[in-house]
Amino acid sequence: MKVPLLDLKPQYQSLKKELDDALLRVAESQYFILGPEVEKMEKSFCEFLGVKYAYGVSSGTDALLLALMALDIKAGDEVLLPTYSFFATAGVVARLNAVPVFVDSDPVTFNIDVAEAEKKITTKTKAILPVHLYGQSADMQPIMDLAKKYNLFVVEDGAQAISAQYKDGRCVGTIGDIGCYSFFPSKNLGCFGDGGLVVTNDEKLNYRLKIMRVHGGDPKYYHKVLGGNFRIDAIQAAVLNVKLPHLNSWSAKRRENAAIYNKLFISHGLAAKTGVVKNDSENKVLIPAAVYENNSAASPNYHIYNQYIIRVEKRDALREFLAKKEIATEIYYPVAFHNQECFRDVPTSKDAYPVADAAATASIALPIFPELSSEQIAFVVESIAEFFRQ
Ligand SMILES: *Cc1c(COP(=O)(O)O)cnc(C)c1O
Repeated sequence: MKVPLLDLKPQYQSLKKELDDALLRVAESQYFILGPEVEKMEKSFCEFLGVKYAYGVSSGTDALLLALMALDIKAGDEVLLPTYSFFATAGVVARLNAVPVFVDSDPVTFNIDVAEAEKKITTKTKAILPVHLYGQSADMQPIMDLAKKYNLFVVEDGAQAISAQYKDGRCVGTIGDIGCYSFFPSKNLGCFGDGGLVVTNDEKLNYRLKIMRVHGGDPKYYHKVLGGNFRIDAIQAAVLNVKLPHLNSWSAKRRENAAIYNKLFISHGLAAKTGVVKNDSENKVLIPAAVYENNSAASPNYHIYNQYIIRVEKRDALREFLAKKEIATEIYYPVAFHNQECFRDVPTSKDAYPVADAAATASIALPIFPELSSEQIAFVVESIAEFFRQ
């Protein structure tokens, strides 16, 4: 049975008429840059996320870059961030000649370990950049407490987690000073190319985000501050206007799929329960923290499973075994920031990161997209059981 990691075609088929109409509408209007589709999209996201201001931008990476620029993060400033994330999280900091300060991850959620972050604060620390990895909120309350105690800005990287909620019910991205999201096609809400979003509740930051998205001019051609071209295309906004109303149902499907995986791994005797962090004979497969067991050790965040990540020993052998059965998997991420060649001169690269290093060698992403069938999920788990019986 062929199981792709992600198949975007069924989603397109289910909305084909509306999406095609939206694309044609933009073509016929010949209004490509910002304009009514973008304004409509921004208003919808403000309502959907429960935030005052939202701006469509050119990508998730540019959302992060614009956020740091709006906060005036500059050369020599230090920004705390998890060493285990997608490259953009650290890349944007380094591009401003600021210093990424790598922090190890929490062993259950893989999100930033806040106690470790506090140990790395210096007089140069200006901001903390938590990532809501795989679609699950970082532990925001201690992060906000830390930010208050040391007077730090908080920029949330919600690229994988739009519509995920922290355990207090607030949407990720709306808790810190600025929230950033990506609409890259493989995220839970994807457009037809690159796109992103920045949000804030702060009046002053709102102004800076707004003008810095378009080169910093106010009025146009008069520049008090330096910005860039960080605009989203009208075509992408039109696509998002069609798709946003369906996001919650897609995320619910991903959560159901995750619950099926969890249940099957447990019933096959491969995993004892969710949220366990140590491989042993009872836990050949470490499954993610459960979403329905709010009283477990696992976090009761509303996890939207952009990725369903298990950890196994002999990860690479398992991956090969599954590939032979036409089950596609991916490694998010094989190399943490502190081991990246381009960051070898970053001072904190020499520190120890046992949790991130273990994650980089043991993590494997299984297919989790909404349209995946329960037969496909059962086949994946049975195949993994077969691998462990060999
Ligand atoms: C995808 C992603 C980004 C970057 O988003 P793009 O739209 O691809 O630029 C940033 N951070 C994380 C954690 C991501 O997963």
